[in-house]
Amino acid sequence: VLGVHEAYVRSLVRRAPDWPKKGTAFLDMNPLLADARALKQCIDSLAERYGGGFITHVAGIDARGFTVGCALAYALNCGFIMVRKKGKIPPGPEGSSSILSEDYELEYGKDTLEVASDSFDTARVTSPRVVLVDDLLATGGTATAACNLLRLAGATIVEVAVVMEIMSESLQGRRRLKEEAYIDAHALL
Ligand code: AMP
Repeated sequence: VLGVHEAYVRSLVRRAPDWPKKGTAFLDMNPLLADARALKQCIDSLAERYGGGFITHVAGIDARGFTVGCALAYALNCGFIMVRKKGKIPPGPEGSSSILSEDYELEYGKDTLEVASDSFDTARVTSPRVVLVDDLLATGGTATAACNLLRLAGATIVEVAVVMEIMSESLQGRRRLKEEAYIDAHALL
């Protein structure tokens, strides 16, 4: 996907074995984010794929999805939506918005994602078309939960885009996303 830049970008993903728990390897994209050239290659590649005016919003998953997601939104001249971990969304004025919430399982634990029900200004954008961004796809549970929430908030999900996809027998994130959320995944690495 990244063509001649792939090896360079890949070299900036750091592998932390046995973290956050024994038996899993954390793939850390901090060095990639810290490198101007690699960051630009990633954003440019995604912007090329999703450019053309069809996308109205990029949504990012708390927290690493915010980094690439918000840069992509800027590049596409789109709005950005934060899909948040539990307890981070302030209440709307006088109960005007509610918080949509979904529990999901991770490779290393459990968590809850939340989205404000009024995330999309549906008076102005009547049919939001969204690319959902995260750093990494493993089991697909996080992205599936985020798709469910964004749909409840009124969005059509166009695709899930990640920087990295872990492909293994035990982690079938792409398949799960397709089977449970009917969404395709696009991975840079
Ligand atoms: P999953 O729901 O299993 O697809 O997990 C994806 C989410 O968990 C993403 O938000 C990632 O940031 C995080 N995650 C899961 N596994 C890893 C890993 N091995 N390295 C880095 N992040 C991970």
